[in-house]
Amino acid sequence: GEDPRVRDIKTKIRVIPNFPKPGIMFQDITTLLLDPKAFKDTIDLFVERYKNRNISVVASIEARGFIFGPPIALAIGAKFVPLRKPRKLPGEVISEEYVLEYGKDCLEMHVGAVETGERALVVDDLVATGGTLSAAMNLLERAGAEVVECACVIELPDLKGRERLKGKPLFVLVESH
Ligand code: AMP
Repeated sequence: GEDPRVRDIKTKIRVIPNFPKPGIMFQDITTLLLDPKAFKDTIDLFVERYKNRNISVVASIEARGFIFGPPIALAIGAKFVPLRKPRKLPGEVISEEYVLEYGKDCLEMHVGAVETGERALVVDDLVATGGTLSAAMNLLERAGAEVVECACVIELPDLKGRERLKGKPLFVLVESH
């Protein structure tokens, strides 16, 4: 059966219809953060899964990925690498564009943050179409890292984001339809 911690986490995620625009069911994790037990359980579930997998780098995506990635990185003894929107990182970067519903977006990573042969975990709050995770994986792979897995708190399985991840495993705690 389902881990009771997961069942509780699910109840702490607030769904706000039509935010930021009509038709979107926004999965609001700020209500999960208000519950210290559910927030800690969320981090613990990822740490239990990744602590013995020789992961040397946790990379996560601005902005909500930054809430979950760093505590996981600290607990498993990995470095943390922020993946950011354009023109936020001050050093030399590599960039990866990806397609959104309307238009394009881009993620950047500092050159030198990751070395060839590192084992990476990509963390974000939610996977929808998979475009964001796929751009993140491309950045890490271009830097020579091996992406071991992607991990999100929430998956919207109807959007089939999993199929865009080039066969890389995706681990999620909660599915929302
Ligand atoms: P995608 O690239 O389509 O997989 O979208 C994932 C990114 O967009 C994540 O960084 C999420 O934070 C955000 N996102 C997309 N859809 C939602 C949603 N329904 N609720 C909350 N965040 C979302």
